[in-house]
Amino acid sequence: MRILFKNAKILDAEISNFLQGHVVVEGDTIIYVGEIIPKLSFDEIIDCHNNILMPGFVNAHCHSPMTLLRGACDDMPLNNWLFDNIIPLENKLTAEDIFWGEKLAILEYLASGITCIEECYFENESIIKALKQSGLRARVGFGPSTRKVENLVDFLKSQLSLCDGEMIKPCIYVHSIYTTSSSEIEQCVDFAAKYNLPMSIHLCETLEEVGNCTVNNGGLTPPQYLESLGFFDRQTLCYHCVHMDKDDLQILSDYDANICTCPSSNVKLASGIAPVYAMQNKNINISIGTDGAASNNSLDMFKEMFLVATLSKVDISDASVVRAKEVLKMSIINGAKALGFDCGEVKVGKKADLILIDTQKPHMQPNDNLLSHLVYSAKSSDVYLTMVNGEILYRDGKFLREDVDTIYKKVNEIKERLKNEYK
Ligand SMILES: [Zn+2]
Repeated sequence: MRILFKNAKILDAEISNFLQGHVVVEGDTIIYVGEIIPKLSFDEIIDCHNNILMPGFVNAHCHSPMTLLRGACDDMPLNNWLFDNIIPLENKLTAEDIFWGEKLAILEYLASGITCIEECYFENESIIKALKQSGLRARVGFGPSTRKVENLVDFLKSQLSLCDGEMIKPCIYVHSIYTTSSSEIEQCVDFAAKYNLPMSIHLCETLEEVGNCTVNNGGLTPPQYLESLGFFDRQTLCYHCVHMDKDDLQILSDYDANICTCPSSNVKLASGIAPVYAMQNKNINISIGTDGAASNNSLDMFKEMFLVATLSKVDISDASVVRAKEVLKMSIINGAKALGFDCGEVKVGKKADLILIDTQKPHMQPNDNLLSHLVYSAKSSDVYLTMVNGEILYRDGKFLREDVDTIYKKVNEIKERLKNEYK
């Protein structure tokens, strides 16, 4: 299958400019980017009418099946939200429920231009089944989540075979230091070393987490504590990192750890504002995530980009920092790097994860500063087409692999059942 995207404003590989031209995708790969249409035959020609053609977004932190809990537990702080409300509800979720929750999230990802995710939840058989059906690219975490397992090492071994290594990659997911013992973390570090796997964790999300860690671990902050357990010896991705001082960030920088900032979730749970400018100054690779739909409540990278740029300015009272171009990079190429996928650039040889953005909208005009518009004024509904690994999965409001009516029916039945069960 060879597809030509012609007459596009193509976001360049450096994510700093737009090239007026054409892109050819063959199979799963971009084989041409340039100003002249190459003399080839095409199975399909898509006229982009001078709209934006760019890499798909990488959502570097989410718990997709939490779409089932969207709007169920609003307006409460993290500990009350998680332990008193979310976990009791999650305990009612079956493997089949999680499959349908994942499917609902996938619809939202495709319709808003997200082509690659880091998924961390439980019942991974259901999650991976849904991901494989959908064609989305994902790194799936498995490990000690909020749902406990009996023999951790046996569990980790059983999960490893679920991932195919190409579209679905594995990582070891430690939910957090406050839900996981030091012995469990060490078992995960050993397992990750043995199978050469990256690791992910929620880290320094709230002041309470940091305070409890220092009290319980001889004054060590969460990054110092994890360093003492060998956690950062692996390639790591740390979610949130809201409450980190310069010394904590230096630890992450020294070990080349990646960060995923999730501003909607942090402000909705009143956790705080992540020090993104300080992270940049430590040369840390910063990616962006939506977190789950129970703490956000939408899975929309446009909203996250706006918040990363604006909250970072408020955080240090300086409107000149964390600019649109830098934030756009975080949501695309930095995410691909954090997850270890060869996508995130419109460049020959890269995987064809591409989206088309309609600029013929009032809020996208005048269209002379599209980099700024993408971060400060674009909406997820401006996404016209989403292609993953060379296959068009969403186009002009239609999902090409998904049965939308069935997904809506199933998730509403599940929500109704949860309401009756949780009293
Ligand atoms: Zn999370």
